[in-house]
Amino acid sequence: MVLGVILRYFALGTDGVLRYQRSEDAEPRVCVPAACRRQVLEAAHGGDVLVGHPGVTRTTTAVSRHYYWKSLHKDVAHFVRSCENWCRELAPDMQAWSARLEEEIDSIPERSVPY
Ligand SMILES: [Zn+2]
Repeated sequence: MVLGVILRYFALGTDGVLRYQRSEDAEPRVCVPAACRRQVLEAAHGGDVLVGHPGVTRTTTAVSRHYYWKSLHKDVAHFVRSCENWCRELAPDMQAWSARLEEEIDSIPERSVPY
């Protein structure tokens, strides 16, 4: 029964919040109604001064860590690619620079002897 399989991933909490959790998920994720998805996307991508317009992958990771909706991946990709605040002109250069910096940091061997 397909409907039974789908419904077993969802649970309505006593707080009235619908959550989604598959067996491989460590934590349940809050199901976000369509009317609130833009706020979630803005917060994860660049609505906060501490979030510097990450790319599609990082934004998807950030959103899907705590939230769920069926078209989440598609919506994140569309939101990031249509971000007019910053991403269209500056972000590709900054993201490339950030990726190179992360690679360089990852290549630094960890010290096994304490300082
Ligand atoms: Zn952006």
